[in-house]
Amino acid sequence: MSARGRVPRPGDWRSETLYDDVEVSFRADRVLFEDKTEHQDLVLFENARFGRVLMLDGVTQVTTADEFVYHEMMAHTPILAHGNAKRVLVIGGGDGGTIREVLRHESVEHCTLVEIDEGVVTFSKKYLAEISDGAFDDPRLTLAIADGARFVAETEERFDVIIVDSTDPHGPGAVLFSKAFYRNCQRTLTPGGVMVTQNGVPFTQAAELKDSVRHFRDLFGDGTCFICTVPTYVWGQMALGWASDNAALREVPVETLKARFEAAGLNGRTRYYTPEVHKGAFALPPYIGTLLDDL
Ligand code: SAM
Repeated sequence: MSARGRVPRPGDWRSETLYDDVEVSFRADRVLFEDKTEHQDLVLFENARFGRVLMLDGVTQVTTADEFVYHEMMAHTPILAHGNAKRVLVIGGGDGGTIREVLRHESVEHCTLVEIDEGVVTFSKKYLAEISDGAFDDPRLTLAIADGARFVAETEERFDVIIVDSTDPHGPGAVLFSKAFYRNCQRTLTPGGVMVTQNGVPFTQAAELKDSVRHFRDLFGDGTCFICTVPTYVWGQMALGWASDNAALREVPVETLKARFEAAGLNGRTRYYTPEVHKGAFALPPYIGTLLDDL
């Protein structure tokens, strides 16, 4: 090890506690908020490189510098593949980034956000307003403070797209990775609808991805994942789960996606998502693709 690696660095350093053998630390140049909500420990700090960083229960959720990657891919990939999504359900996502991208589609008539922790919403509106960018005030939005698993178990509403923008499968987010939850999501989708999920980093969270995709394939006609590279979710590419009874949705030609992207007024207005990136995201490197063999 170089001497440089052993030099103590000044400042208040905050580490992720997701793994017990590796960790990522950020220098917290200014802690803006630190509290325990009804459901989880919440800390927001400023870092010179990543901007404002939100951690819940010691796990990085969002940073203002790179949130666009995740939120654009979570929202535009299913909506543009579907092609006629009018009703969208977002579960989790209390920072408001996913609803911001969903509501950029004028064709979306209604979006319901179900977030378990009111503290995350209140706090994000105040300290992370640039992430939601006014989406909480959109008249097409209904906000429900509730457990997403319970919501889909009880609702009679139907949605064309469901986006599960959850924490990892620990604490309140664990139920959002269960087979019973996915079954209720399948029931809550309109015929031919699509669900996407936050599914972690396959290099370090392979078992979680395999479990989810196994459930998708048991319950839906088509189940896989697509990938994106989010700088703050380290240890390789991130997987987003994909489940639909309409297998054709992931085969939509790039020319069709381009036409829909253009019609949505998004051309040149995204920083990560493009129709070409969309198509490429489903091409899985073998170290991820083989995880999904024989499930
Ligand atoms: N981008 C993030 C990631 O990949 O880790 C996810 C961010 S978003 C802030 C996750 C949200 O899911 C949190 O606000 C958390 O409160 C919410 N959540 C966790 N469990 C939930 C549940 N059972 N129902 C609804 N929301 C839940």
